Amino acid sequence: MNGRPAAVPDAVLARAEAAYLGLALGDALGATVEFMTPREIVHRFAHQGGVHRELIGGGWLRLRPGQVTDDTTMALALGASILSNQGRVEPLACAQAFDAWMRAKPVDIGNTVRRNLIRFRATGESAAPASEHDAGNGAAMRVLPVALATFGRPEAAVRAACRAQAHVTHHNALSDAACEFLVLAVQDFLRGDSLRQVLRQRIAPLLLEQPALAFRQRARRENPSGWIVETMQAVLQALVDGDGFENCLVDVVNRGGDADTTGAIAGMLAGALYGREALPARWLKVLDPAIREACAAQARRLVAS
Ligand code: MN
Ligand code: MN
Repeated sequence: MNGRPAAVPDAVLARAEAAYLGLALGDALGATVEFMTPREIVHRFAHQGGVHRELIGGGWLRLRPGQVTDDTTMALALGASILSNQGRVEPLACAQAFDAWMRAKPVDIGNTVRRNLIRFRATGESAAPASEHDAGNGAAMRVLPVALATFGRPEAAVRAACRAQAHVTHHNALSDAACEFLVLAVQDFLRGDSLRQVLRQRIAPLLLEQPALAFRQRARRENPSGWIVETMQAVLQALVDGDGFENCLVDVVNRGGDADTTGAIAGMLAGALYGREALPARWLKVLDPAIREACAAQARRLVAS
């Protein structure tokens, strides 16, 4: 719809699927070590060289191997809402979808998400008031369906769709910049752009607009918090310095901290960049089958919507 060609190339569909599966894999991998420090991770995984690299579940949420958390299930709720709205990203539909998601008692939920969904229930206002404090990573972690649904649309429309979904819970300039960057970078990768191109055309302008996100000259970002700045620094360091999908995800989650979310965000970018063939088969085998099917199906439907 909206004037896009009816047939999306198979290569684009495959990369879209890889981005969505990458999000879920990064979430499931990272959740095991969420809120741990890098030192604790090295100690805990001493039997395998001090590195966490398998989908074994556990963590503070006591997950089953391959089980995902709010990062993936909020994305799936958003994607389903976009699909039932003919590919449009509308604030009220997003707010209703997230509200229904919260009612279904998710395994975990961020504080800013919970507070602003309770506000939505009370006021019926889909957009949260602008807040300097709501610079958490909760809007960015679930933004992937917007990248897929708006693929091929003008950049201004893509950015507006990002804000429509984000502002339900996070109405903040840093969060907006990260959400819009992630969506546009995923779309670049879907088109086949290289990491070098994305560095030049997306990452460099992002750092000019938001110097707080600078990540190259600073020390390795370990123990990243849920603040979008620390989250993005860890993700971008792992993406730019990493080599391949598995390497990038293992790097970012072993930094600990908000590891399911850095894993999810790195997973969507690295999935779109490295493609379907790069996803480790041993991880896909363990990933919750219902989630795996839902991500793959939604990816293809969203990008064709
Ligand atoms: Mn989570
Ligand atoms: Mn998290």
